Amino acid sequence: MYAQRVLSGMRPTGSLHLGHYHGVLRNWITLQHDYPCLFFVADWHALTTQYDDPQGIEKATWEMVIDWLAAGVDPAQATLFIQSQVPEHAELHLLLSMMTPLGWLERVPTYKDQQEKLESKDLSTYGFLGYPLLQSADILIYRADKVPVGEDQVPHIEFSREIARRFNHLYGREPGFEEKAKEAVKKLGSRNARLYSQLRTRYQQEGEASAIERAHALFDAAQNLSLVERERLSGYLEGTGKMILVEPGALLTEASRMPGLDGQKMSKSYNNTITLREDEASVTNKIRRMPTDPARVRRHDPGDPEKCPVWQLHQVYADAACRDWVQQGCRSAGIGCLECKQPVIDGILREQTPMRERAQTYLDDPKLVRNIIADGNDKARQLAQETMRDVRQAMGLNYS
Ligand code: SF4
Repeated sequence: MYAQRVLSGMRPTGSLHLGHYHGVLRNWITLQHDYPCLFFVADWHALTTQYDDPQGIEKATWEMVIDWLAAGVDPAQATLFIQSQVPEHAELHLLLSMMTPLGWLERVPTYKDQQEKLESKDLSTYGFLGYPLLQSADILIYRADKVPVGEDQVPHIEFSREIARRFNHLYGREPGFEEKAKEAVKKLGSRNARLYSQLRTRYQQEGEASAIERAHALFDAAQNLSLVERERLSGYLEGTGKMILVEPGALLTEASRMPGLDGQKMSKSYNNTITLREDEASVTNKIRRMPTDPARVRRHDPGDPEKCPVWQLHQVYADAACRDWVQQGCRSAGIGCLECKQPVIDGILREQTPMRERAQTYLDDPKLVRNIIADGNDKARQLAQETMRDVRQAMGLNYS
């Protein structure tokens, strides 16, 4: 019933690396062509684990946004904003916290995992326990029906769906709902109203799923109904009341296989990264110093690409002909390792060149980035306020 919308956020970590580009940003860039997208800096989420050291968050935010823009995220197509600049996220988080069973939060799989992983930090905090709920508020406040996530994040989406269902169940029955729904039925015209009622009975009494689709088609095609009236007809049909919060769906994205300089997954914590805008000399130097198959001690020793982290980068950056050249040259000792690394260096530099150019515009004029975000904050806030109006009304908090 609501518009299709994609929402995705990132904690402000400062400069992004190629792992972020291949794992997240490339997907965002594709999605922004296909759907209305909202991309946000999750600065409050950073505070859930970094509450004792918040000083770097602002600087990291601006650096990260420049990297988004450098990578090709287009503010003309997507809305870019900062979570804390849309305070409605906090309001929805608070209101949802009133009806969220504690056990649901304690059951979130990452809660214990993260606490164990970050054992040097005291994460026995209210904010850390509640971060999946803040995440749900981030999604639900935009009625985002598409959230790009990896397999491991699916439980978070399921959690948000449960929260939306519980909310709609508790508060979706607006006063006089049935009468208002019946008024909307009348607006379908006598023939379609009769058909709607028959389909509703078939669904509710006989569980006929196809009746839902047919009834939806009826009121979707009616030109004289408002969005709220369609919502009522949908809720009346399914016996759920009015849908105030939309259950989000996961847009499954493939896990990034971007290897780091040591063959492990590229990650800041492994110190094996190349940043998005790293200068050319540093990229060249890092790749040249990468470890290779330990069997290739001397130039004439044959090697095995499967045992070499450079080969993993060839799989990202080289074409089929180059990969054949590596396979044959490595196994026959026909090529040296420095020679083999050059196409990887070239591939990375080729990928980075437009990013550096785009970033330069924003580095030369930081006001451009501030304006993009200010504009995005405003747009996001308008959407958030629409949802909050309905939420407040449903929870009896509409004092106007
Ligand atoms: S030739 Fe290439 S694939 Fe083979 S060990 Fe050297 S760097 Fe690795």
